[in-house]
Amino acid sequence: MIRQPRRRFFVLGFLVSVGLACGPGGRGPLQEPDPRVSLAASCGARVTAEGVSERLFELSPVLGGRDARAEDVLSALRAVESALRKVPFGLCHCAGLKELIIVHGLWARGQDIGGIALHRGDTIILSAASRGSERLERTFHHEFFHLLDFAYDPFDPERYTDPEWTALNPDGFAYGAGREGLVYMPLDPADEDRAIAGFASRYGTWKLSEDKAEVFALLVSKPWLAAERAREDAVLARKLALLVTRLEATCPGVPGIADLGRFP
Ligand SMILES: [Zn+2]
Repeated sequence: MIRQPRRRFFVLGFLVSVGLACGPGGRGPLQEPDPRVSLAASCGARVTAEGVSERLFELSPVLGGRDARAEDVLSALRAVESALRKVPFGLCHCAGLKELIIVHGLWARGQDIGGIALHRGDTIILSAASRGSERLERTFHHEFFHLLDFAYDPFDPERYTDPEWTALNPDGFAYGAGREGLVYMPLDPADEDRAIAGFASRYGTWKLSEDKAEVFALLVSKPWLAAERAREDAVLARKLALLVTRLEATCPGVPGIADLGRFP
């Protein structure tokens, strides 16, 4: 493994400097300000994109990843910036995101995954490897919800069984978490938005926490699709409504949360 953090730093610094030098009349993406600045402003979060292998090991010995190229880091940060524009302002502070780690490839217990939120509740790790911006946004929204979910009454003894939520599931349904040896299910882009009654995606059928994260990701990434599906699917409609109610309880005073659930 060859790492060149110093060169990456200068390349990113150069891109940002050129961008700022272009000024408001500049052309192309380079005139945009560094997304790290807006991330820090909207979340108070810092970005780690260099020395990630060591940082991941520090956080958990089961995690692995490599430094991404400077341009891929920048693209991923732009996707995160765009994703944050789709959630009510203030939600990121409420979620308590403190560190966003951008990596090239991400492995958990040897399995390739797109992203992960650490359930200590303040870190999101996002893989920038070969992923389009829409996919990155969706993954960010999913992981972002895990932080919000953790913030929702973390001392509730029923948080891991959540009878109120699971009671909404179709009769006889059981999540697939008991499957032998399956710790992390890789996100399959083909799963997204596949119409499975009662769920935002097939991935959501795997585990209670993933069900909620997928419902949130659908709601904020594609509200029009959430609305369309909710009209046809009463279970999904009730999950969307419960999720919005809980967000309001988790983040009181953040304006705009109720609007998430008001479909045209
Ligand atoms: Zn998840």
